[in-house]
Amino acid sequence: METILVLAHTEADGSLAQPAREAIAAAQTLGPFHVGLIGNHTQQAANQIAGCGAEKFFAVTGAEFAQPRYATDAAAAEAIARTAAATIILVPHTSRWGRVAAGVAARLGGRADTHVTGIAAGPTITRWYYRQRMEAQMTRTQRPWLIALDPGCVAPLQGAAGTATILPVNVTATSRTQVCGVKAPATSQQTIRPDAKLLFVAGAGWTKKQPDGQTHVAEAAEIILGFLNASQASLGSSKSLVDLSGEGQAVLPFMSHLNQIGQTGSTPRHRKGLATCCHGEEPHTVGWRFIVERRAINLDPNCGWARGKADVLYVADAFAVMRKVNELLAAKP
Ligand SMILES: Cc1cc2nc3c(=O)[nH]c(=O)nc-3n(C[C@H](O)[C@H](O)[C@H](O)COP(=O)(O)OP(=O)(O)OC[C@H]3O[C@@H](n4cnc5c(N)ncnc54)[C@H](O)[C@@H]3O)c2cc1C
Repeated sequence: METILVLAHTEADGSLAQPAREAIAAAQTLGPFHVGLIGNHTQQAANQIAGCGAEKFFAVTGAEFAQPRYATDAAAAEAIARTAAATIILVPHTSRWGRVAAGVAARLGGRADTHVTGIAAGPTITRWYYRQRMEAQMTRTQRPWLIALDPGCVAPLQGAAGTATILPVNVTATSRTQVCGVKAPATSQQTIRPDAKLLFVAGAGWTKKQPDGQTHVAEAAEIILGFLNASQASLGSSKSLVDLSGEGQAVLPFMSHLNQIGQTGSTPRHRKGLATCCHGEEPHTVGWRFIVERRAINLDPNCGWARGKADVLYVADAFAVMRKVNELLAAKP
């Protein structure tokens, strides 16, 4: 019989974020499980999921565990795993857990698998190889087995609030590392929103000459930002658009290589996607593998989206369409 443990960090406001609630929802399908919480305050998070069905709630609590640091994160995770005698350890594959997953498994004499996209009884995990081209199902005999579940693969735990009894786990861990702040890429806006329902992709067409023979980059930036602010969509880009800055051409100031979707970019998970002024070539659309409903706006009826890559292709001027969409969004009560 496996002893399943879900580990999660609490947020600055004491709550549990969606990736953590997804990992708990995944554990619910496997059988009895425990939850281990790490953070400055853990009672609020435990109460948030009190009715999730966990047998025990372990917690490492303290200001030193609020900071995302290898030394304290790994020590806390190891201590809870040992206290719970866990054989299967499930964590959300956030950047914070991704940093410590392998180290925690090594400390426990176990194995880690990251970027897991599904988990079923056994447990058997699903993950992708070769840049999301081949899907494998696998299991392991080694225990403990630490499994890092990619966000967006499981519907998150909803509701389940109540009053939970926490079992404190004492950890003495210090670190000379102090997190002083966040250094983000040189974009003027935070445009990547992994939790957004919609992915809005801008292609190089936004910076190209339009039917009047002129480029309209400033207007493109205004339209795109206006839409992002009104819809809270996440912004993706084609490679051509983010590469333009290196070629000294007019570019959208809020765009960086982090926005790039595709074979050499990211493969985000959003319910819907809208591509604009983007041709829809295979190296780009391969990054849309997990986008459930796809739409595109392109002047060219023969663009790549028309060839089975989009559910709906609007053959239209994206400037005109998005200007109208922004107008409608602004008029919405
Ligand atoms: C090894 C390799 C890896 C690659 N990896 C990636 C990757 O990870 N991601 C990626 O994106 N690409 C990648 N590429 C590049 C990819 O093949 C394409 O070159 C790129 O996606 C094209 O970008 P685009 O569609 O924005 O630009 P373009 O091909 O220039 O297309 C612009 C589009 O905008 C349309 N348009 C212009 N004005 C308007 C308007 N007013 N309204 C509507 N539509 C308009 C045009 O009709 C055109 O279809 C890779 C290529 C290689 C060889």
